[in-house]
Amino acid sequence: MIKLYPLLPWMLSCLSLYGFAQVETKLYDVEHYTFHIEISDRTDKINGLAEIFVKINDPKTQTLTLDLVDIASGLDGKGMHVKSVKKKGRSLSYNHKDNKLSIALNETLEPGQMISLSVAYAGIPADGLIIDENKYGDRTFFGDNWPDRARHWLPTVDHPADKATCEFIVTAPAHYQVIANGMLREESNLLDFKNREELKVTHWVNRIPIPTKVMVMGVARFAVLHAEQHHHIPIQYWVYPEDREAGFSAFEPSANILQFFSTKLGPYPYDKLAQVESKTNYGGMENASNIFYSEEAIHTRNKLEALIAHEIAHQWFGNSLTESDWSHVWLSEGFATYLSHLYFEHTYGRDSLAALLKEDKERIFAFHLKSPETTVVDTATHNLFKLLNANSYQKGSWFLHMLRSKTGDDLFWKGLRLYYQRYKESNANTEDFRKIMEEVSGQNLAAFFNQWLNKPGHPYITGSWKYNGFGKKLTISLDQSQQTNQLYDLEIQVGIYYKNVSQPEIRTIHLDGKHKTYEFKLKKSPQHIVLDPNTWVLMDFVFVET
Ligand SMILES: [Zn+2]
Repeated sequence: MIKLYPLLPWMLSCLSLYGFAQVETKLYDVEHYTFHIEISDRTDKINGLAEIFVKINDPKTQTLTLDLVDIASGLDGKGMHVKSVKKKGRSLSYNHKDNKLSIALNETLEPGQMISLSVAYAGIPADGLIIDENKYGDRTFFGDNWPDRARHWLPTVDHPADKATCEFIVTAPAHYQVIANGMLREESNLLDFKNREELKVTHWVNRIPIPTKVMVMGVARFAVLHAEQHHHIPIQYWVYPEDREAGFSAFEPSANILQFFSTKLGPYPYDKLAQVESKTNYGGMENASNIFYSEEAIHTRNKLEALIAHEIAHQWFGNSLTESDWSHVWLSEGFATYLSHLYFEHTYGRDSLAALLKEDKERIFAFHLKSPETTVVDTATHNLFKLLNANSYQKGSWFLHMLRSKTGDDLFWKGLRLYYQRYKESNANTEDFRKIMEEVSGQNLAAFFNQWLNKPGHPYITGSWKYNGFGKKLTISLDQSQQTNQLYDLEIQVGIYYKNVSQPEIRTIHLDGKHKTYEFKLKKSPQHIVLDPNTWVLMDFVFVET
């Protein structure tokens, strides 16, 4: 996802409501949700019936707990009221408070046993499902669940580690169109005789396990273009009818981006790719198989291609292969950021990558000044919205860039492919990724991962060079002068530029202490010397001739 706005006060307040989401997948694991949702133009109240298929891991399980915001805990009387919980038609007792729905199972269960529950509920969502007019004054409904806002309108185990397949069966006034995860199974117009209203039932089925943060529906008046097929994957554009021409053309880079990532990472994980104009709070939100873009984003043409690349990359990293806990969210955001940069390098050349990396560097340095103790693998930040920072995105991306320089291009891509192959449709953490990269490269990467991901900050290098014409000797001195006590182990390229030669001669130096001096014998006098001429190291530095 890409943030478009500064954090809004409500975003911070809802986190203090829920604290850090804890997962209970040890005892049981949700395998599938069927969400029946009824929406109307007369009220913002939704009626829901969730059929939940759960695998019992521990036979001692007595209570099954789902996340669902209750009215007493919601804002302004909003929240969900549970009407019944049933198992095979039989009512179960439950307790719904503090945003948890605890269901008493009252029976002896077997390990691996599947049980199915149905939860009937209703209410006005305080968040999670945004019910609002779009910029043209049309009423719209858009799911916007990241990070743990699904619980406002869907009873779920609302944590990225409990992935499930899902279906949305949406009953809405007939003038709406409905998009949701997966493939379209049914779209039928019906008559509601009681209210003399034409209704439409739309049923979408997603057969691939995804986290709740990307399980959504979007309901609006849409113009829909079935743009093209990419290896049998339909690519669709869903925009407000008023934005039909501009919106369709804005999404045109989608096919090329899909082609690049499919070739590099393995087949696209889902049944379709829909690019959807929406009311998401983010600039773009990577909802699985239907990416939601903000109304503003689709009109920022110069930035949209990077945003599209970022969100499409998330379909592999974030949606199919999901971080096992929020502290490893860089495995989603750092990956999507760097993969988008790699698409730009592939499409527009190495200079465009270097420009993006330099821009990112400034954001990392600025964030570090503000938040000097924060690390990329971040177990200290419990406000999930605060994880949307330059560490998760830009420093995670920079780390992958440095990893690439350590392994070389071929092994880097091989590692990414293997990592995806092994953990797709599942979860992984930073250690899992490190082990894959070690397996592929044959290198011990523990110290490298540790210095960049588990320690705050970055190296600050002060250095100088001088050339002695008599001995044809170049002397380079480097100091690590970062405030943190930590010393880095760095491989740094030095570019030696000669008169009338456009490309520099490259030497690599190994800086593994506080202060080091290096000497090189040159054939002739250099014009100037540049540290890290190809932008491979995340460091702040001053480098001068003495
Ligand atoms: Zn993202």
